[in-house]
Amino acid sequence: MGLPRGMNSWSIGVDLGGTNLRIAAVTRHGEAIDTLHLPTRLSLGPEAVLDDMAGAIRQLIDKHPGNLLGIGVGSPGPIELPLGVLHHPPNLPGFDGLNLRLELERRLDRPVQVEHDAALAAYGEFLLGAGRAHGVDSLLMLTLGTGVGCGIVLEGRIWRGMKGAAGESGHGPIFPDGVPCPCGARGCLEMYASATAIVRLAAELGMEAPGSADHPHLSASGIAQLATAGDERALRVFDQVGQALGLSLAHLVNALDLPLYVIGGGAAAAWPLFAPRMFSTLREGSYVYRLSMPRDPNVFEPGKTHVAPAQLSDSGLLGAALLPVAARASAA
Ligand SMILES: [Zn+2]
Repeated sequence: MGLPRGMNSWSIGVDLGGTNLRIAAVTRHGEAIDTLHLPTRLSLGPEAVLDDMAGAIRQLIDKHPGNLLGIGVGSPGPIELPLGVLHHPPNLPGFDGLNLRLELERRLDRPVQVEHDAALAAYGEFLLGAGRAHGVDSLLMLTLGTGVGCGIVLEGRIWRGMKGAAGESGHGPIFPDGVPCPCGARGCLEMYASATAIVRLAAELGMEAPGSADHPHLSASGIAQLATAGDERALRVFDQVGQALGLSLAHLVNALDLPLYVIGGGAAAAWPLFAPRMFSTLREGSYVYRLSMPRDPNVFEPGKTHVAPAQLSDSGLLGAALLPVAARASAA
């Protein structure tokens, strides 16, 4: 694949996950022109993973002509920013204390920008997805995956907080008597709205996977299929997901008063199943929302508070690639 004519400025985005490593060449307009998928070889240690990343980046640089604007990397947290140092990341065992940014820069002999993966998902949606569609200057995005990520874009810029710890709303406790969370708190949003939580909630209700000899575990998407078919226990699971999201959003809306809150990640595909309870809980829990909610939550009205599903499936990767593009534009 070559570059489309007239688009000779491009950048590289990297999504470092605990299972998969994705590296994309992206035009300055956000079109992916080449993507590499590798396993994250955690068992071989951080040096091997860093070498794999640097090797894939070099492969794209050698293959594509034109002006490389920069390299953006999304990493799981906790990561100290803008330094780029990982602190006991639960999804990257063995990476504690590693300076991801410096290690990559040393291998590539080029500058690298590092951000929290959930922040880059929000940034990608802001630039190319729901944010662009609605023409807003700020948004918050919750990503429902293995955990619940949270990214915040304020007036066009990623909000990191003091050292990169902003956007830990997945670990905001919402049920005081809820289940303990690995973070040390109890009843966190992540324990009720992630794909992992959906499976646990279904198991707590005694649901079993159909054909359980071949598929001993229920999956979040399988539970969503059952709910769509009318399974009462599966419907209760998504009702609880909706309640958890509504409670969390009530705090977020009251604190931030943003025009748009985006729900993304794999489990967000179950939007029709959890959205009714999410909106009713948000209405009950936030007077700020009640004062500024649109007449129809599915119809965008400027100046109102909106909660909408994500529009992109790979916003984190695109957001990573567009980081250096935005940096160039603001420096110009
Ligand atoms: Zn937690």
